[in-house]
Amino acid sequence: VNAEIVAVGSELLTPFHQDTNSLFLSERLASIGISVIYKTIAGDDRRLLTAAVRTALARADILILTGGLGPTQDDMTRECVAEALGRQVQSDPELITELYKRFAARRMKVPENNARQAEVIEGAEVLRNPRGSAPGQFLEVEVGGQPRYILLLPGPPWEMEPLFDAEGLPRLIAHAPRRHIATAMVKLAMVPESAADERAAKIYKRFPGVQTTILASAGEVRFYLRAQAPTQAEAEDAVDQLSALLEEEFAGEVFATGDETLEQIVGYYLQMREATVAVAESCTGGLLAERLTRVAGSSRYFVGGAVAYSNEMKTKFCEVPPMLIAEKGAVSREVAQAMAEGIREHCWATYGIGITGIAGPSGGTEEKPVGLVFIALADGTKTGIVERRFPGDRARIRHFATQQALEMLRRRLV
Ligand code: ATP
Ligand code: MG
Repeated sequence: VNAEIVAVGSELLTPFHQDTNSLFLSERLASIGISVIYKTIAGDDRRLLTAAVRTALARADILILTGGLGPTQDDMTRECVAEALGRQVQSDPELITELYKRFAARRMKVPENNARQAEVIEGAEVLRNPRGSAPGQFLEVEVGGQPRYILLLPGPPWEMEPLFDAEGLPRLIAHAPRRHIATAMVKLAMVPESAADERAAKIYKRFPGVQTTILASAGEVRFYLRAQAPTQAEAEDAVDQLSALLEEEFAGEVFATGDETLEQIVGYYLQMREATVAVAESCTGGLLAERLTRVAGSSRYFVGGAVAYSNEMKTKFCEVPPMLIAEKGAVSREVAQAMAEGIREHCWATYGIGITGIAGPSGGTEEKPVGLVFIALADGTKTGIVERRFPGDRARIRHFATQQALEMLRRRLV
């Protein structure tokens, strides 16, 4: 069973408002095994909205519309759905009475427009909306011999969400064959997306029943696995088998199989080893410290560090010899190493991390281009240094650098 979501409202076509209702709805629908095959955003235009409803009904089993149920002239979802179905809207006497009561309680006359909110599409069930004046509606119809379910919901998320959970979801569950769903996540750090996909594809292709989605951001690849089956055990079995094979393939590169972030995992290992870390950051300007301290309880292992942006501060905070900077340049393997070792000693930490690089957009040279970053990790006996050339803009390069640093530390700790 599949669904289409139509978000109604001209404001959703401007740069100022986002359609977030469909995100909420697709999450809820996925949880009961209904996949969203199409999303449409329609402005407040009678002809276009009616056409959008017709198109949706031709391709999806379930149509959910949000917005356009209010009292004003530009709220026309009811009329358009009715028109697309060739049905009338009728004033519901009960809703009219309620409307009068509500306004009377506030000693107000019912504005003429508001009566529109009492209009119900022929054959529709009214879904009471405790948080607003516009009720939702639910319809079961037939289009080309196929059963179709239509749900009209108000636009404001605060009204739409509880109404969907209370009234919409149970009705859809009753009409959709019950499917059980299992999901799993496998997260890798510092593996390029294309390489990850190539290695993973030969494995997940053997599991056509498991839907595999790859989500990638700077320095991180996530495999999101999802299986549907008639029983929970079958669904779980399918994702477990696939995730086990992926974990085997990417053994050393998998940092989490759940929701944990890389900084959380690093924190977890540092605590387990009763170790601490200090950082000296040049081009990342404190971003690594920010990520480490985003984790609640990080005071147990993160001692602090320095934003050593200028050459002088590299010397002052991390004891980097001025001669070394003069000889090798501030962005060099040697300076990264000296920063990591210097900050480690200065802060009495188990591990010291040094980052120096060129985040751009300016400051690059042929020899030292934008994106060149040296990351060093010192533990008192040996210092590992990596040289990377990260692609992307300034924000991406800086994020990549912190990701690399965290991953180096994680690999040292496991
Ligand atoms: P109302 O009775 O409040 O007019 P309505 O059902 O007519 O309800 P709209 O007028 O379409 O709903 O939208 C009201 C507000 O709800 C919008 O200004 C917007 O802030 C929010 N909203 C509408 N649609 C969406 C959506 N798809 N995603 C997120 N917010 C939305
Ligand atoms: Mg409105």
